[in-house]
Amino acid sequence: METLKLIEEILEKKKDKIIDVSNKIWEFAELPYNEYKSYGLLTKALEDEGFVIKRNVADIPTSFTASFGNSGPMFGFLGEYDALDKLSQVAGCSRKNPVEEGKPGHGCGHNALGAGSLGAALVMKEYLTANKLNGTVIFFGCPAEEGAGSKQFMARAGAFDNVDFVYTWHPSTINQVQSVRSVAIMGANFEFKGLASHAGGAPHLGRSALDATELMSVGVNYLREHMIDQARIHYAYVDAGGVSPNVVQDRTLIKYEVRSPKVSQLKELFERVVNVAKGAALMTDTKVEYEITMAFSDYIPNAALAEVADEAFREVGAPKWDEKDYKLAQEFMLSYNSSTIESIKEYIKEEYGEEHLSEIWDKPLDSEVHPYENSIKYTSGSTDVGDICYAVPTINFNVATACIGNVGHTWQMTGQSRSSISSKGILTAVKIMALSAVKTMNNPEAIRKAKDIVLKQNGGAYQCPLPDSVKPPIGKY
Ligand SMILES: [Zn+2]
Repeated sequence: METLKLIEEILEKKKDKIIDVSNKIWEFAELPYNEYKSYGLLTKALEDEGFVIKRNVADIPTSFTASFGNSGPMFGFLGEYDALDKLSQVAGCSRKNPVEEGKPGHGCGHNALGAGSLGAALVMKEYLTANKLNGTVIFFGCPAEEGAGSKQFMARAGAFDNVDFVYTWHPSTINQVQSVRSVAIMGANFEFKGLASHAGGAPHLGRSALDATELMSVGVNYLREHMIDQARIHYAYVDAGGVSPNVVQDRTLIKYEVRSPKVSQLKELFERVVNVAKGAALMTDTKVEYEITMAFSDYIPNAALAEVADEAFREVGAPKWDEKDYKLAQEFMLSYNSSTIESIKEYIKEEYGEEHLSEIWDKPLDSEVHPYENSIKYTSGSTDVGDICYAVPTINFNVATACIGNVGHTWQMTGQSRSSISSKGILTAVKIMALSAVKTMNNPEAIRKAKDIVLKQNGGAYQCPLPDSVKPPIGKY
């Protein structure tokens, strides 16, 4: 309890700054790889506190590391600060009301994420100093999580070498050390090249890239029946070959994204998609080339670190909500359409028990800490945090910053990401991450076990799922 008290005392002095940073990043609402103002704000806040900044990590202009200390255990917090397109929304407003129509908004709460991790770094700097402890705290500035990511490039560039452990958090609807895994993803552009010709007058001289692209989609649709349940394949036409039916289309571009629980399964499934593309080219006498554009590894919570983190989370407890928070949360919850509201009801019954439905309906904010479960359940989403767990022992905390049942990547999330609810979530996250860091520093055995787990996962060293030739898509995303 002593440690938590000291953390809370330090936080009391820093909290206005942390919330101010969150609010400003929320206002900037910058898209992936363009987070220049958010980057400027965070680096300045850390520099002012004596952190040493390394810029342009992995040749990404808005990525950085900020470190304090130069000996002892080396640990870090991951910060994200990118927004999502077209999710602008007035802060705290529970009816759709964009600040500016069509503009980006923080629909995943990364403003809070960045500020919370900043807070944990600042608190830990003070904690190490006050106790005259050896240790190095690092804030990892990780842009473009919603784009093609940055963490895998940063890990590949060695930014996480020699780091002992990493904590991060994500704005959520629930308080829990993330127990579910996330799946690995790989994205690629497939370009088909054929031969243009008059589709009416000389069709026999044309070779249609559009036919090839459509056959690829047909082939992939057949492939879906013969892949594991948790895998996903999505696609989008970037260039369907033009708007003239009477010209045989000589070039097309289609984007594919493949997801699988494990990187190894991902690579295998991706190869099968490539083979389908080659088959489509063969059938149509066209040529195909592909370029891998992005990939994230799967995220697996580090079970050794999770135990320490879970203990810290319970000690800190859930955010303390008041009547105003509950009222606002309920307004947001009721802003969803009837089928989403029905699914929220089902979720509440499943997660909290039917007997608590009416109570939670009136107060739809998670006010308990759910225990960590060492399970192999997956969400079908993906994150570049996955790559960090293959490089360093890593844990993500989910902390409530939005109403129960809230859907991510919506204007509702943007609206709640700058509110009293989100502020309380941020400050809770700071405490959990700082307390977990202290508990981990004091537990070399847990660090050793956590590192053994990573070694088993990566076979000796982090391997980026991307070929070396793939660089961060700066200016191209
Ligand atoms: Zn997110």
